Amino acid sequence: MSPSPRIKGWCPGAWRPMATGDGWLVRVRPPLGQLSREQVVALCDAAETFGSGLIELTSRANLQLRGVTDASWPPLMAFLVEHQLVSDDPEAERQPQLMLAPAWQKGDDTPTIARLLQTRGSELAAMPGKVGIAIDAGKAPVLGDSAADFRIERSMEGGLLVRAEGYALGMAVSDAAAVVEQLIRLTHWFVDTGGWDAGRMRRHTAPLPDWAPADTAPASPGEKLALGEHREGMVVGLPFGRVAANTLRNAVSQTVSSVQVTPWRRLLLQDCDTLPAVDGLIRHNSDPRLAMDACPGAPFCEQASVATQPLAEQLSGWMEGTVHISGCAKGCARQRPAALCLTGRDGRFDVIINGRADSTPVKSGLTESEALDVIRKLSESH
Ligand code: SF4
Repeated sequence: MSPSPRIKGWCPGAWRPMATGDGWLVRVRPPLGQLSREQVVALCDAAETFGSGLIELTSRANLQLRGVTDASWPPLMAFLVEHQLVSDDPEAERQPQLMLAPAWQKGDDTPTIARLLQTRGSELAAMPGKVGIAIDAGKAPVLGDSAADFRIERSMEGGLLVRAEGYALGMAVSDAAAVVEQLIRLTHWFVDTGGWDAGRMRRHTAPLPDWAPADTAPASPGEKLALGEHREGMVVGLPFGRVAANTLRNAVSQTVSSVQVTPWRRLLLQDCDTLPAVDGLIRHNSDPRLAMDACPGAPFCEQASVATQPLAEQLSGWMEGTVHISGCAKGCARQRPAALCLTGRDGRFDVIINGRADSTPVKSGLTESEALDVIRKLSESH
């Protein structure tokens, strides 16, 4: 058995992996955004045994393995199912992605709603693969910058609300069970009013139904997790969202009980009191790589004609402000403008100032060393 090819743009999973420049990309959705230490170690073993040894953390808080082959995919899937990293039911992957605000605790509304939604997942309408639900029911919403189509948040008054993407206000609901009822109804409304054509809620122009009035303001946004010590353990960053399996295994080798994933290229190592000195993780909030974005680039992505992440490492600390290194004009790693953007094209680089990967460059067709010269001059002039 080997995975069947998928149309690009389809949201990959584990049962439906995506073909990339270095083999199949297999995406794992941690249940409730959390993995036990044993599951993390199993994932590291899986990355080394069946893939390239790299693990990526996506902007929707999923983990993915790369470099999987036709031959290694079947045993990988058996291994992931055995360690409860993937459901044995491929249909489960068709349910909308849930993204949980990290640092939730047992008994909070966030995991309670997620469990209820998982139980009643089959009642949600079948929606386009990229549609996702952010369960952000802590004291203050923290996932506002992360892509989602329906959001569960806390209102200014402290109650729960359901908010459709594209609307500043949401609809108040009484409790976790009511949240799930409302979400189920909303997903059917979305599909019945042309949601498949729109693809995402933010592009959906049908007015909300009368039974889902957008009239309740969410609480002011909270802060995302800072790196370093946290009341539940330690927060570490993954440079450009990627870590070697061996590095991650070493990081969870001490007292760590479980790991919560975040959409911010950060992991919360729960019950971690001291982090071993391992290279390949970001430990300090002043690390310049936190202001940089770089997509996988060549040879990992078929669309890329240039390597990105080694160049990003090399440029780390050169410039103040945001830096984006993109393998092509699609700009997967960052949709917003960056102070400096290098975009690969036909094996060369375009230099863009204050723009996106597809903005008009100030210099184009440069070799890597020519691009570095331009950036060096720019950094010296600031
Ligand atoms: S920006 Fe281009 S090269 Fe980079 S991951 Fe996206 S499609 Fe691939």
